[in-house]
Amino acid sequence: MNGNSAYVFSIKEVYFINKIEKDPRTCLKCGTYLFTLNISVLLILSALCSCQKYDLEHWPVTYPPEVEYQMNLFIDNAPQGLEVKPLTIKLTSNLYLQGTKVAGKSSHKDNTIYLDTTSAKWKQARTSLVMHELGHYVLRRQHLHDTTTILDTWQGYPISFMNWATGKPSDWNLKREDLLEFYMEELFNPKQADVSITTGG
Ligand SMILES: [Zn+2]
Repeated sequence: MNGNSAYVFSIKEVYFINKIEKDPRTCLKCGTYLFTLNISVLLILSALCSCQKYDLEHWPVTYPPEVEYQMNLFIDNAPQGLEVKPLTIKLTSNLYLQGTKVAGKSSHKDNTIYLDTTSAKWKQARTSLVMHELGHYVLRRQHLHDTTTILDTWQGYPISFMNWATGKPSDWNLKREDLLEFYMEELFNPKQADVSITTGG
């Protein structure tokens, strides 16, 4: 009757268009494969999916007061525009990873970092521990477990939070402001950190 009226897509047509643009069985937000073929179930699953990333300013993060200093340190030193996934930090005891007792564990599967409060690292190296796990979880950094990341001039301390197994389990080195600054720079910008800094003996 009215040939000039705007064409309105039906839900079936929107589904069809979406199918062309993108596999409709993937999460609409991150592309994670979802098993359903039903558009309404897909929308519900996408809404529930915690894969969404946020700008650091709007980070849905929950943590206990015991790591408030460390969280502020991380957030204050993070580069602008850093994208983050939702995160919960949980304190626990008897933490195991593949059968081995560990001080911390970062899990993308349940958006959680677990920290073992009975561990020596929690007691003596809490900042290193929290930064290490945030390095895994937020920055997707891997371990640097080799001797090239230990400097003699650093009295056996590693040059990165991501070198953990070979480093001394202490936050002693972080008490010096310039060293703490270096570690934070290395965490966010591993390629540009200046390792020529020395502990001064
Ligand atoms: Zn690790």
